[in-house]
Amino acid sequence: MSEDTLDKQIDDILEALRDTEGKDVGREELEKELKKFLEYGVPPDHAKQTLVKKFGGAAQAAPSMERSLVVDLAPNQQSVHLLCRVVSVNPREIQVKGEARQIFYGILGDESGTIQFTAWKDFELEKGSVIDIMNAYTKEWQGSVKVNFGDRTRIKTVDASELPEVSTEPRSYKVKELRGGLSSVEVTARILEITERSVESSGQQKTVFSGVLGDETGKAQFTAWHDFKLKKGAVVKISGGYVKAWKGIPQLTFDEKATVEKLDASKIPPEDITAQRVSLSELVERNGALDVTVEGTVIEIRQGSGVVQRCPQCNRVLQQGACSVHGAVDGHKDLRMKLVVDDGAGAVSAILGKELTEQLLGKTMDEVQADGVVEEMHRLLFGHRISLQGNALGDQFGVTLIARQVTPADFNVAAEAERLSRELEALV
Ligand SMILES: [Zn+2]
Repeated sequence: MSEDTLDKQIDDILEALRDTEGKDVGREELEKELKKFLEYGVPPDHAKQTLVKKFGGAAQAAPSMERSLVVDLAPNQQSVHLLCRVVSVNPREIQVKGEARQIFYGILGDESGTIQFTAWKDFELEKGSVIDIMNAYTKEWQGSVKVNFGDRTRIKTVDASELPEVSTEPRSYKVKELRGGLSSVEVTARILEITERSVESSGQQKTVFSGVLGDETGKAQFTAWHDFKLKKGAVVKISGGYVKAWKGIPQLTFDEKATVEKLDASKIPPEDITAQRVSLSELVERNGALDVTVEGTVIEIRQGSGVVQRCPQCNRVLQQGACSVHGAVDGHKDLRMKLVVDDGAGAVSAILGKELTEQLLGKTMDEVQADGVVEEMHRLLFGHRISLQGNALGDQFGVTLIARQVTPADFNVAAEAERLSRELEALV
C-alpha cells in the first residue's frame, strides 16, 4: 500500500470519528495502528471499521467507507461514498422559509454511469473535476435515484486520473424526466408542433427548428440547430441532445452531433399525449412544466385580482393610472384572477385571464361590479377545489401556472345556483 493510499485511509477514519466524543486520537497513532493491521493482512476496510470502533465511533454509525458505483445506488441510502466526475453543475435559487437560498444541481458520473445530484450548499463543485464524496445520501424521485449532498457530506477534489473519462453514451429518458442540465440524452417522442426561423449565429444566417414534442409522460419544448427534416406528427428517436430549462420548462436542444431516427408513427399515438396530471408537490419540485393539469384547493385570492386597467401599448397592468414604462395612459379594462392553490403537499400560484375568470364567476366583465368582485371571487372559490390546465413557469419565488382551462373540481354550489338563476331569467 502506498503512502498516499494510507493517508487517505487515515483521513477516512478521522472523518468517521469527527463527530464522536471518544478518545482524542492523533494521526501518528492511527497510522501506527492501521499499519499493524495491514501488516497482519487485515483487509483495509475491515481495519478501518475496527479502528473507528476502537476510538469511540459508534459501531452502527460508522459510515460505509466502501465506495459505491452510481449504478448500484438504491433509494434512501445514508453515508454513501462515491468517486465521481462532475459532468455538469448548475446553480439554482430556491425559497426556504421565505429566504432565498442557492442550491446546485447537475450530473455526476463514474465508470458505471451517470446520476443526477442536488447539493444543498455550495461545495464549489467544478465541471470536469473528479471528487471523492463521503456521507452523501440518496432519495428516489419519479422512479429514479438521486444523490444529495447535505450538511454531513464531505467532498474532496482528487486528481482527475483517479477516474477514467465518464462514458457519454446517451441515456434514455421519458419526456417528463427531462431537466435543465442533462446531457447525452436520448428521447423517443412525437413532434407535436414545429416552426422554423432564421437566426444569426457567429455572423452567419442559420435556420433553427423549434417546437413541442411529447410522449405518454408529458410535453417539452425542443430546438434543433440542424435540419433533421422533422415533420409535425413524426415519431423520432433523438440521441445526443442536451436539456436547457427556461422558467422550469425543459427544452431539449440538439445539433448536427445528434442522431435522429425516424420511427413508425404508431409507436406513440397522438391520443396518448395529453396534458399530464401532476401533483402540486411534483410541480414545485420540477419548478415548472409544459402543459400540465393540477388540482388543488383555493387558499388565497391574491392582490391584483379583479378588474384592472392595462396599458394600450405594452399590456402591463396600470398602477394608479400609470404604466411603469409608458407613464400616464388611457388604460383598457381587463379582468383577471390570481389564486394560490394548495393540495396539502404543495402550493402554486395560478393566473386566470378574463375568459376563465368570467367562466368561474358566471358573468361577463361588463356585468362585474369592480368594487365587490374580489369578495365575490372569495365567496365563490375560497376553500373550493379546482382543476387547472396550462403551462407552469418556475422562478425563485415559486411556480405560477398560466391557466388555459379551469374546472371546478368540487360542486360549487354558489356558482351553480347563480348560473341556474341566470338561465331561468333568460327563459322568463
Ligand atoms: Zn406600457
